[in-house]
Amino acid sequence: MSYDFDLFVIGAGSGGIATARRAAEYGAKVGIAEVDRLGGTCVNRGCVPKKLMVYASHFSDLFRDAVGYGWSPVKSEFDWPKLIRVVNDEVTRLNGIYQRMLDKSNVEVFEGHAKFVDSHTVTIGDRTLTADKILIAVGGKPVKPDIPGIEYAITSNEIFHLEEQPKQAVVLGGGYIGVEFACILKGLGSEVTVIIRRDKILRGFDEDVRTEIQEGMQRHGIRILTETTIDSIDKLDSGKLQLNLSGAEDTVIADAISLAAMGRKPNLEGLGLEHTQVKTQNGAIVADEYNQTDDPDIFAVGDCIDRLNLTPVAINEGRILADTKFGGKSRQMSYENVPTAVFTTPEAATVGLTEAEAREKYGDAVKVFRSKFRPMYHTLGGREEKTLMKLIVDGDTDRVVGAHMVGENAAEIIQGVAIVVKMGARKADFDATVGIHPSSAEEFVTMR
Ligand code: NDP
Repeated sequence: MSYDFDLFVIGAGSGGIATARRAAEYGAKVGIAEVDRLGGTCVNRGCVPKKLMVYASHFSDLFRDAVGYGWSPVKSEFDWPKLIRVVNDEVTRLNGIYQRMLDKSNVEVFEGHAKFVDSHTVTIGDRTLTADKILIAVGGKPVKPDIPGIEYAITSNEIFHLEEQPKQAVVLGGGYIGVEFACILKGLGSEVTVIIRRDKILRGFDEDVRTEIQEGMQRHGIRILTETTIDSIDKLDSGKLQLNLSGAEDTVIADAISLAAMGRKPNLEGLGLEHTQVKTQNGAIVADEYNQTDDPDIFAVGDCIDRLNLTPVAINEGRILADTKFGGKSRQMSYENVPTAVFTTPEAATVGLTEAEAREKYGDAVKVFRSKFRPMYHTLGGREEKTLMKLIVDGDTDRVVGAHMVGENAAEIIQGVAIVVKMGARKADFDATVGIHPSSAEEFVTMR
């Protein structure tokens, strides 16, 4: 049977584009469909614009620190519309780069919403296309809780297009997105309240890391209402929003927006999965260790399988899939020791097991090495910032099974540590490494 394509990819986000390009490198005839701008969540509504806004938010602290280093006080006004404009211009530039990369790879791009007709056929508008293999890489989208007035809350999709900076921002949820945006908005000058239903933000992270980030955010003036749920949102005559709560406080007032950052779900609506054998569970596509769905010629990568919702994970899943199916190199994705960072102020990054996970796995053999100190940079700058570093070791084998850091440049530092943790380094290997002095990173090789 002959098809229009060897591989057709639905969704031109990080995972879809990586798979399409790698498969095309092997000589496969590849098409890709995208209903929105090229690049998916990461480029258009996630990692990239978020990180640019994180950089923007750091200047308020840097201006203050400068005075401690002998500079005269910096008087500077922040221009929100300008930031939004330049960030979106950069996103547009990246969209163009993706288009050129796909063109260069001979991947044919189709604009529009793709829908399955059967296991080898999709429609996009009035076009019908067939493919030997089809990849679903449709990503996810934010979910909003079902409470009265939730229509007044925006999500992370909209925040990159807000015309005005909120003066009083309320963030609902204490996951990655909630805490990162809380810190961005605070750094840019908004008054910020975060509402969480537990006692601490960032469930799933190491307890010390959670505590350190939460206390750091509070030191920066972010109000965190813990063990508080949100019952409803009212729009007041003044145009402001009143959030009605159960817990630490009864109400809190926000400007015209509050940000709902309460998780994401796979973007499967209207995909026509009912015309295939693809199965879903809890709203996500079921795929095996080779990213194959229950339909033998349909595969899925990235947030739509809801395994580990991180851009580099989706990219790796996609490239491994292309290597396996089109490159003759059968490989499987390893989800062990995937490093991750939270771009809060203070920043945090981690790889491997939390202390609690390690204790569950290795019991009393676990050894914990912890160091908390004031980084040299802040001795003159005057800010009460602390850095936390923590190594978790399986005492029986001396292997480092977890490394965690809260503090400046945590992401940059942990990326290097992640290589050796992935390789199975022992604590003795860390100890045998000479530190770079003076740096914060050297603490990882001097912990006793
Ligand atoms: P998360 O799942 O990380 O966090 C959701 C937050 O909302 C949690 O604090 C959760 O509380 C809370 N929540 C969920 N439902 C309710 C409810 N009904 N009532 C009250 N609180 C609720 O989702 P995000 O939207 O923050 O991020 C989605 C994913 O995007 C992340 O998992 C991550 O993989 C990815 N991401 C990664 C980033 C990075 O690598 N730096 C940055 C941004 C996103 P509780 O903990 O109590 O369940």
